[in-house]
Amino acid sequence: MIYRSVGRCIYCGATDQKLTLEHIIPECVGGDLELPDSSCEACRRLTGSINEQQLFGDHGTYRAARVYAGTKFSENAKKSGQVMVPTFWGDGDSQVRRDMAVGEGPLGAAYLRFFGPKFLQSGNWFDDPINPQVSYIHLAWPEQTQVTEPFSFPSLKFHQVARFISKVSHAYAVAELGYGNFRPFLADFISEKDDRLPYNLFGTVKSRGVNFIYDIDLIELRARNSTFIVVTFQILSAAFFPRYKIVVGEVDRKPNTKPRRQFLQIGPWRSKKKGAEPKPGARWNSSA
Ligand SMILES: [Zn+2]
Repeated sequence: MIYRSVGRCIYCGATDQKLTLEHIIPECVGGDLELPDSSCEACRRLTGSINEQQLFGDHGTYRAARVYAGTKFSENAKKSGQVMVPTFWGDGDSQVRRDMAVGEGPLGAAYLRFFGPKFLQSGNWFDDPINPQVSYIHLAWPEQTQVTEPFSFPSLKFHQVARFISKVSHAYAVAELGYGNFRPFLADFISEKDDRLPYNLFGTVKSRGVNFIYDIDLIELRARNSTFIVVTFQILSAAFFPRYKIVVGEVDRKPNTKPRRQFLQIGPWRSKKKGAEPKPGARWNSSA
């Protein structure tokens, strides 16, 4: 689905630069929601390097989760049948990375979970001292693997994951509501103008390991005498990726004014959900 262009960078607001197409959910995990002419070169490079290299790329945190959920890989990788996943072996300082072909090594992932979003109850988004939780999930363990030393999965970098979660939520809200129709909370964090982690805006919702490609949704929520825009989304559901619930911004509305049409409904008003196509591990096993 292609949204209407907003004609400026949705992260830093630039209008005087060449703008590029923004994928709301990365293509490599099955995203097909596009927002044309909406990211400047600097912001594209920033968000692209997090998505492509650090999270979903060759040595990325969620490489193994992608393999397990069966989302797409390049034609070259498919042809050779050699999709590699990073695994870390050994302890502490002596830890080394080994990239193992799928089917030869264990598959697992580390996910970030939040209690919240606490901002809906009280406080500011940057002053909560409570850290998020990290949970490790073992997805697959090949029978023939001999384990003689401790191993772990790629480590989780809070800033990178938080920026990714922020980017998906913010871009979706702008695509659905239009630029300027809400006061965005996350744009400065995404474009690195503000480096504080906005934990208080983030929450995780309980979810099962189900089998859709992605599910994204937007609601309007009244709390603290204001109206907030909250995006929920989940990708890689077959690999137990958490369902996030993110406060992306605030809507200004004077008391006793009629809400705009798109805000009439409180609660889920639009959900984009893409099919139940892949089966866990189905496309990539040792004989792929
Ligand atoms: Zn920008």
